[in-house]
Amino acid sequence: MVLDELRIAARCSYLKVTLGSRPGGNLVNLCRHIIRDGSACVGPFLDDHETQCGLWELAPPGPGSRPA
Ligand code: SF4
Repeated sequence: MVLDELRIAARCSYLKVTLGSRPGGNLVNLCRHIIRDGSACVGPFLDDHETQCGLWELAPPGPGSRPA
C-alpha cells in the first residue's frame, strides 16, 4: 500500500497538536471530532502505522503537508 493511502493519525483532519499544561512544553494530540471533542487522539503516532479510529478523515493539503 502506498504511504499516502494509509490512515495515519497524524494526517487526520480532526487532529489538533497543541502544548500541554505541564511545564516543559510537552505536545498533546487532541481530537476535535464532535464525538471525541477535547479527548486525546487514539493514535498511534508511529511511522507507517494506521489508526483503528473509525472517525478518521484525511486532512486537506495544507502548508505543513507532505508532497504527494
Ligand atoms: S481520535 Fe480519530 S478522529 Fe480524532 S483525531 Fe484521532 S484519528 Fe482523528
